[in-house]
Amino acid sequence: MQTFKQYPFSEPILKALEKLGYEKPTNVQQAVLERFNENQDLIVQAQTGSGKTMAFALPICEEVDWEGRYPQALILTPTRELALQIQEVFFKVGRFKRIKAVGVYGKAPFGVQQKELKQKTHVVVATPGRLLDHLEKGTIQMKDIQCLVIDEADEMLKMGFIEDVRRIIEALPKHRTLLFSATMPKAICKLTEEMMKAPIPIQITPKQVTSKQVEARCYEVKTEDKLLSLMQLTKSENPECCMIFCNRKLEVERVYKALYEEGYNCAMLHGGMEQRDRFRVMEDFRRGHYRYLVCTDVAARGIDVKHVTYVVSYDVPEDKEQYVHRIGRTGRGKQIGKAAMLITKEEQKFTKAIEDYIGKPLVIEEMIDEVEVKEVEEAFKEKMAQPIALQKNEVEAIHQDILKLHINAGKKTKMRPVDIVGTLCNLPGVCAEDIGIIQIQDISTYVEILNGKGEKVYKQLQNTPIKGRMRRVSKVARRD
Ligand code: AMP
Repeated sequence: MQTFKQYPFSEPILKALEKLGYEKPTNVQQAVLERFNENQDLIVQAQTGSGKTMAFALPICEEVDWEGRYPQALILTPTRELALQIQEVFFKVGRFKRIKAVGVYGKAPFGVQQKELKQKTHVVVATPGRLLDHLEKGTIQMKDIQCLVIDEADEMLKMGFIEDVRRIIEALPKHRTLLFSATMPKAICKLTEEMMKAPIPIQITPKQVTSKQVEARCYEVKTEDKLLSLMQLTKSENPECCMIFCNRKLEVERVYKALYEEGYNCAMLHGGMEQRDRFRVMEDFRRGHYRYLVCTDVAARGIDVKHVTYVVSYDVPEDKEQYVHRIGRTGRGKQIGKAAMLITKEEQKFTKAIEDYIGKPLVIEEMIDEVEVKEVEEAFKEKMAQPIALQKNEVEAIHQDILKLHINAGKKTKMRPVDIVGTLCNLPGVCAEDIGIIQIQDISTYVEILNGKGEKVYKQLQNTPIKGRMRRVSKVARRD
C-alpha cells in the first residue's frame, strides 16, 4: 500500500499527517483519494472507525483555495458532538495550511457563530437545523461551496432531516456531493441517488458490518437483575475505559446514579442535557477523566475516543444498525476491543433483526456468578482509584508547536490581518509560514504562532509596537 508521501499532497498537509503519525491511508481513504479528482459525486459505504472523516477532510483541505473568503466545503452531520469532532479533524489536517473550519450547530450561541462566519471561513461543519437558521438570516454565504459532504448519511436522512437537507442543497448554486455512511439501507440509497448526479459507489467491506477487531458477546439476564448483571460484568471485565449504552435518557440517569453510588468513575451523556454540559462531558471523557460513560445513542455515531476498550449495550437497541454503531466505539484504528449486550426476555424480539443484519448469530454466554465477582472486587476498586492510561494525544502533538496569543486591540481600533502579519514578519526569525489563524474581533485579536516559535514571538511582542502602539499581548490557555 502507498504511503501518504506518494500522493500529490502539498507540504502543509503532509506535515500535518506526519505530526499526526499517519503514514498510510486506510482502505476508504485510498479509495476516495483515487476518485476524488474525477470531480464526481461519490457514495461511500465504509464501516465505522475506518477513517471516513479523514477520507473527506484530506482532499478537501488540499483542494481549498486559502485566499477564498467564503466557505468552499460544507459538511452536514446529524449530531452536534460529531460536528465538533469533524471540525477538530479539519483543524488537525488543515493546521499548517491555516484552514479555518467553523462549527455551526444548535444550542450554541448563534451570535458567536455569526461573528465567526463573518471572517474568512474555508469549511463549515454543520447540523442541518442551525445551518438553515443561518441561511434564513443571511448570516452564511454559500455561493462558493464546491463540495458538500453528507456524513452519517443514513442517519441524516432518517432522523427527519430529509427536508432540511433538500432545502440546504437547493441553496447551493454549484457543488458535488460526497455521501458517507457506515450503513446504507436500500430506501435511503434510493433517496440519495435522487439528490446526486451519477454517483460513483465506493463500498469498503461489503459484507462484514462489524469490525473483526471487536469480540462481541451477549448475556441473557432477568429484567429485575439487569443492573446487578451490568455491575458484575463490568467489574469482572474491569476495562480501561467503557461506554454503556441505554435506549432512553431516563435509563441513562438511573444506571449512572447506581454506578456512581457503587463507586464507578463515571459520567453520563444524553440529548436532554444542555449542549454546554454535553460538550464538557464528552471532552472530559476523551481526556480520560472518566472510565465509564453511560449514554444514549447520541454518542453512538462517529464519536472517536481511542482508548474505549469495552462497550456495553445495557438495552438491546431497537434499531439494528445502532448495534453496529455502538460496537464501533471500540476497536478504533488498529486496536482490539470488546463488546457485551444484556438481553432480557422482552428484548429477545429485537435480536433476530440484529443477527440478520450482521450476518452471524449473536454469541450468548452464561452470566458470571457472584462468587467470581467477589474475587474481582478488589481489582475493580484499585482500578477506580487509578488514572486512565491514556494514549499519546494526537492533537497534543500538533499543539506542541502552536501557541495562541491574544492582543488587546481589534476592529474598533481598525486592526487588520495585514497589521498583524506585517509586525510578526518583521520580528527576527519569523516568516509568514509561522503565522496560523488570525481572528479579529471588536476589541481583541487572536493569532496562532506555529512551528514552536510562539514563546519567542510572545516575548518579542512585549516590547514591539503593533500598528504604531504598544499592545497588551498574552498567551491563551489551550482548550485541551
Ligand atoms: P473515523 O472512521 O473517521 O471515525 O476514524 C477512525 C480513527 O482512525 C480515528 O481515530 C482516526 O484518527 C484514525 N485514522 C484515520 N485515518 C488514519 C490513518 N491514515 N492512519 C492511522 N489512523 C487513522
